Amino acid sequence: MFDSSRLELSKEAVRHNIQFLQTHIAPHAEVSSVVKGNAYGHGLHIYPRLAFEAGVRHFSVFSASEAYELRQILPTETRIMIMGDVSDEALEWVITEHIEFFVFTKERLLKTIEIAKKIERKAFIHLEFETGMNRTGFSVQELTEITQWILEHASCLHVKGFCTHFAGAESMQNWERIQHQKARFYASMEQVQSQSLHADEVHTCCSAASVRLPDMHHDLVRIGIMQYGFWSSPEVFSEFASKHEIHNDPLQRVIRWTSRVMSTKWVEEGEFIGYGSTYLAQKRTPIAIVPIGYSHGFSRSLSNQGRAILHGKRVAVIGIVNMNCLALDISDVAETVETGDEVVLIGRQGDMEVSVASFGELSEQLNYELLTRLPVDIPRVAV
Ligand SMILES: *Cc1c(COP(=O)(O)O)cnc(C)c1O
Repeated sequence: MFDSSRLELSKEAVRHNIQFLQTHIAPHAEVSSVVKGNAYGHGLHIYPRLAFEAGVRHFSVFSASEAYELRQILPTETRIMIMGDVSDEALEWVITEHIEFFVFTKERLLKTIEIAKKIERKAFIHLEFETGMNRTGFSVQELTEITQWILEHASCLHVKGFCTHFAGAESMQNWERIQHQKARFYASMEQVQSQSLHADEVHTCCSAASVRLPDMHHDLVRIGIMQYGFWSSPEVFSEFASKHEIHNDPLQRVIRWTSRVMSTKWVEEGEFIGYGSTYLAQKRTPIAIVPIGYSHGFSRSLSNQGRAILHGKRVAVIGIVNMNCLALDISDVAETVETGDEVVLIGRQGDMEVSVASFGELSEQLNYELLTRLPVDIPRVAV
């Protein structure tokens, strides 16, 4: 109610992006929608439903708490996979609900076996291999013993997957490291298979890897950033564009962030605008105040730098971004601007667009960081 801004999620863009992804991955592979980080800022309570409507039946999260939230809003036949944190306290619920989860420590494996036995349910696990990211996963050396444990407790474990994660597939710089990871992944798989352990499916790719390593799609790809309409890096887009001989971005941005004009006024020539003396009016200047500031995720580093769209024209942020508001120079549209008019902070209005990338470059934030930092309390609406 009475919010200063809102985030609109385009159902059409979600449908379009999911379809795009499905046509560009191997025919037998499935898309898992990665919705950690509040669905990359799009809203964990709203985005997954749009992805579900667009045909997605597999979701990946980081933690058991995210899985819990997701379970409340998605039909029970939907698969949910936790790639990171599951506390011992969460394990019982996770196993009971058939939530799938990565196993990458012996402690988690033993605890899983203990609880699955106690509640007489099978735990759905994905065995994660350490291949060179050096974050989580079992090394080849550890796998012999781990595999033995799994085989001995096969009655309470269902091995859904063998998986790993590539470190920095979005940059050519890491190419060699990625090649090593591929080799280690296959070596790990051979190791466990030689002990007769098998999994339903194999998955390794995030967005960048799914573009760069088509031979690694296997059964499932874990797609985060691309489903929201962004490329992992400009490099990944250029590579895709040259390979497919396209010029325009085939992805559509899902999010649009809007606020409105709170007040307008004229500032006399020679006056400073806002706190301090960073902006001096060189002429008599019309300005609009918008009730959005750094407390709403509009970075202070966008002071005298940021752009917004008003009446279909690009307008500049002038002066320092305050906690709760900012000022726009509306010289180009002054005559017609009224209190209440829509201001676009991210996204399109008419033919104009403020991209997250331009917003991010100016505030020196990555797409990923900027999106996930969009405050949880801004209302999200599907349009
Ligand atoms: C975040 C994450 C992904 C998705 O990454 P994107 O670059 O957003 O596609 C895939 N796999 C794992 C293990 C992750 O942590």
